[in-house]
Formats: sequence, C-alpha cells, structure tokens
Amino acid sequence: MGKILFSLIVPGSLLLGATVAFLNWMAPPGLLSTLVRVYPYAVYGAGILLGWRFRRSRLVTAILLLVLIDWALLHFAAANPATAATGRIVFNAAGVLLPLNLALLSLMSEQGIFTPNGLWRLGILLAQLPLVAIICEPTQASVAALLEHPIVDAGVISGMRVTQPVLLAFAAAFLVVAIRFARHPHSNESAFLWALTAAFLGLNTSSIGPVSTIYFATAGLILVISVVETSYSMAYRDELTGLPARRALNEALLRLGARYTVAMLDVDRFKKFNDQYGHDAGDQLLRMVASQLAKVSGGGKAFRYGGEEFAMIFPGKSVQDAIPHLQELRKVVETTGFTPRNSDRPRKKPKELRPNNPARKAVSVTISIGVAERTEQHAHPDTVIEAADQALYSAKKAGRNKLRTYPQGSAR
Ligand code: GH3
Ligand code: MG
Ligand code: MG
Repeated sequence: MGKILFSLIVPGSLLLGATVAFLNWMAPPGLLSTLVRVYPYAVYGAGILLGWRFRRSRLVTAILLLVLIDWALLHFAAANPATAATGRIVFNAAGVLLPLNLALLSLMSEQGIFTPNGLWRLGILLAQLPLVAIICEPTQASVAALLEHPIVDAGVISGMRVTQPVLLAFAAAFLVVAIRFARHPHSNESAFLWALTAAFLGLNTSSIGPVSTIYFATAGLILVISVVETSYSMAYRDELTGLPARRALNEALLRLGARYTVAMLDVDRFKKFNDQYGHDAGDQLLRMVASQLAKVSGGGKAFRYGGEEFAMIFPGKSVQDAIPHLQELRKVVETTGFTPRNSDRPRKKPKELRPNNPARKAVSVTISIGVAERTEQHAHPDTVIEAADQALYSAKKAGRNKLRTYPQGSAR
C-alpha cells in the first residue's frame, strides 16, 4: 500500500507543487519572462531526445501534443481583440482535445516511434489541427457553440475560466487515467494523472501567456521524469519476481558497514521441475519462492541473483543472528510446496469441478542456503558472496534442503 501511494505522489506532485508555489508566491518580477524563454525548450528538448533514444513513443507524442497546444493558444487565444472569436474556439477545442489525447496516450503501449503504429499516432494527432481549423470557420458556428454549451447550472463550475464541456473532457480523462493507475500502480501511469492536473491548471489560468506555458512545460517535465524513473527501476528490479536485481545487490553491498551477513539461496533440483512441469510453471515457482523470501524477518533483504538463485543480506548481523530467520524461510518453503496450475486452467472459476480435471497435487519444493559474514579475510563483498556460495555448495552436497555456513558447516 505504501509503495502504491509513493508511486502516486512521487515525483509528479512534487514537480507540480513546486510549479504552483513558484508561480503563485515565489516568482520575482522579471524571472517569469526569462524562465519562459528557457524552461519549455529545455523540457521539450530533453523529452524528445529521451523519447527517441529510449523509444518511448508515448512521451514523444505527449510532448508534441503539449507543444502544439501551447503554440495554438499563444498564437490564437492570447488576448487579441482581432482574433477574439477564433481565440475562444481554439481555447475550447484545445481544452477538450488536450485531456482526451493524454488519456488515450496513457492507455497505449510503447510501440516505437518510426514504426507504422508510432507514425499512425503522430498522424492522428496532427490530423486534429485541420479539424480545429474547420471548426473555426463561421459556417461551423454551431459546432463551436457546443464547446461552450453549459451542461449544469452550478456556481463553482460556472466561475471557472474553462467551459463545462472542457471540464467534462478533463473529468473523463481523469477517470480513465485513474482506472489505469489502479490497475497498474506505477509511477509512469501516475505521471499522466499529474500531467493532466498541470495541463488543467495551465488552461484555467486567468490569461494565456507565460503562466500557461510554464504549466504545460511542467506537464511535460512530469512525463519526462517518469520515463527516467521507470528506466531506473527496470535496471534495478527483476521483472519476473519483482525483487531487486543483482545490480541493486552489488550497490547495496557497497553501502554496508563493517558487519553484515550474506546468504545465497538456491532452489533444489529446479531443472527437473522445469523439465517436468514446463518453463511457465518454473516461472510461477520462482515468483512464489521470491514472495516468501521478500517476507524474511530479522532485517534481511532479498535479491534475485540470477536464474533460480537468490541472495539475502543482513546488515549489522552475524551469521548466528541470521540463521534462525533463514531456517524459518527454508521451512516455510518446504511446508508450502507448490501447486502447478493446469495450462488449460479457465480464466474464471468454474461453477463445478470438471469431472475429468485431474486432482492437482502440491509438489514439494525445497531450497538450500549458504551463509557467510564479513570478516578480516573476507573484507570485500565479492569474497563474502564467494564464501556464502561455497557454503551453499556444501549444503547441496549434504543432500539439499539444508543450511550451511562458512567456514564450517552447521545447522540442519
Ligand atoms: P540443484 O539442486 O543442484 O540446484 O539443481 P538445479 O536443477 O536446481 O540446478 P541447475 O543449475 O542445474 O538448473 C537450474 C535451472 O534453472 C536451469 C535453467 O533452465 C533454469 N532457469 C534459470 N532461470 C530460469 C527462469 O527464469 N525461469 C525458469 N522457468 N527456469 C529458469
Ligand atoms: Mg538449483
Ligand atoms: Mg543454481
């Protein structure tokens, strides 16, 4: 729960909060006009570059959308009596199209930029420009009027700068993105929620100009940062099990003090399990074991080392301190076992058990554990891991489902 809340709040709300604070209370006179000449270009430039190099088509398309909206508003909707009527139509059309496009983008998967699908998306986005131009024609006044048609008669809403259809488009977009976040609670999804909020604040400012431009750039910045964050977690988290990966372990080891214990844990006879039940069942088993290791007590922290091997560190603990917690893990895995799912398992729970459904039996699963602590001879993390590996080897040789320590084997 805490993790979900964290990915909802960080970093979107911080960036947006800083922008709101800056624009409302902190911007000294003169700085705003300087900032508006630098900030949007820096954000959009970084966004396009990053999106291109990381092949994030959603980011590239979203940046293009923000640039187009900002340009159209500054060009047509900034106070100019000569273009007042057109300006209003462009403002309302932008208000409806901006949230709807962002919501659509949030639902899309990454499919490359210069690929047929990526180019289609850019095409659909650009095709909206002539559409808006058509609505601006006097003959289409009735369509333009729809964009500011009041839907309900409510005091707070009618006091806003944006029209009710615009508000409705934002509400629908928020709903779509919120549902998406509820299903995939990651920071790259929550970024769309905060980008929508920033975009809304940009449209709802008292006048189109530097302030709206800065809000749109912040919407872009939120999306850029979320791509960086997602890439970071891709590098440090193991995709299959959700545990931190080996790279994270290597860095965590370097941050440890003079006293710590490392355990290496390996699933017993996993190759046989894979051969018998298939690779997918093997993956499920790894997830199950990982979820149990993640719940280790005694201040331990689990990592996926690679394949069916896991590592665990106990900062500030000796081998003797860590043993009871590791033994408990070993027993939990042993007693839980694993029930492979049938490959033809229906997605929904059937009302009755199918008669020809063979009774599924729990398969026994065990792990072997090798433990070592940092000592004078083993001062470098690599050598502590090597020592734990040797202990693991003795545990395997002793018959598996055992815990052994370095230097002398002990415990069951
Ligand atoms: P031991 O008891 O000595 O540890 O024997 P073992 O069979 O567990 O060990 P071995 O190293 O011979 O086999 C490990 C197997 O794990 C081989 C490989 O196919 C499988 N494996 C490695 N990574 C994955 C994975 O991500 N998913 C699945 N399903 N299998 C994997
Ligand atoms: Mg193994
Ligand atoms: Mg192994």
